[in-house]
Amino acid sequence: MTIEMKKQNLIKQAATDLAAADYVVALTGAGISIASGIPPFRGKGGLWERFDPMEIAHIDAFMQDPARVWDILVREMKGVIDRARPNDGHLGLARLEQLGKLKTVITQNIDGLHQAAGNSDVIEFHGSFAWQRCMDCGKKYETRKVDISQIPPRCDCGGILRPDAVFFGEMIPTEALLRSRQAAAACDLMLVVGTSAVVQPAALMPVIAKDSGARVVEINPEKTPLTGEISDYLIMGGAGEVMNRIVEKLEQML
Ligand code: NAD
Ligand code: ZN
Repeated sequence: MTIEMKKQNLIKQAATDLAAADYVVALTGAGISIASGIPPFRGKGGLWERFDPMEIAHIDAFMQDPARVWDILVREMKGVIDRARPNDGHLGLARLEQLGKLKTVITQNIDGLHQAAGNSDVIEFHGSFAWQRCMDCGKKYETRKVDISQIPPRCDCGGILRPDAVFFGEMIPTEALLRSRQAAAACDLMLVVGTSAVVQPAALMPVIAKDSGARVVEINPEKTPLTGEISDYLIMGGAGEVMNRIVEKLEQML
């Protein structure tokens, strides 16, 4: 059997599994947003080829020198995320919700593209880049509207603005962690899309799903630590292409 035939079989399998499932949860990572022009952290073209994460995306780095982190990382992310639009990967997950299958998206992404695509229950595991918050008074500002002619940008009160997202070295928002664990334990099928599954505790969610008896299906052009261990199967490919094919098959079955 050729690789393409094997892939076609797995796509059929995924559509069959989705048709049989009642409670589907997706866990997504940076890979699903690459086709929207947002670079991932790891891998080819990833930010980590240019920066040391611990240095530049760590809360200690930000506290020490906010202007530097704004200059090197945050300003660029703002430029990219302000312009980004959902791609077929996001739209496929939104379609799965419309079809009554997908209940919740747990995302490690901070780009807001699942909401833009139309998913109604999105747990932002690492917070959101859509908002900046004042480090002094907590006031929030929409990132798109923040004036970055002065770096770092400041609140009306004079405090420095920081992304409302989780830096390395910071806690996962409690509510997001609790709700994710619940969703992972409750689902009967988890789609793991575009995540390298090495950032904890997000990578634990498929393990919780598996332990609770769910099927775990990965969509990723590359193997991950979950492959062959936790996931039932991996469909190798880009999120957009694979989601399109799965949704097409599923629609024929329902
Ligand atoms: P990652 O950067 O560690 O890994 C990206 C994964 O995507 C890899 O496994 C890669 O093989 C896969 N991939 C590459 N192209 C793909 C495609 N077309 N379709 C599907 N998958 C593809 O990302 P991660 O696992 O999400 O973890 C890193 C952290 O980076 C997260 O905590 C997240 O907060 C942050 N991050 C977010 C964004 C964003 O918001 N879009 C972007 C970069 C990093
Ligand atoms: Zn303030």
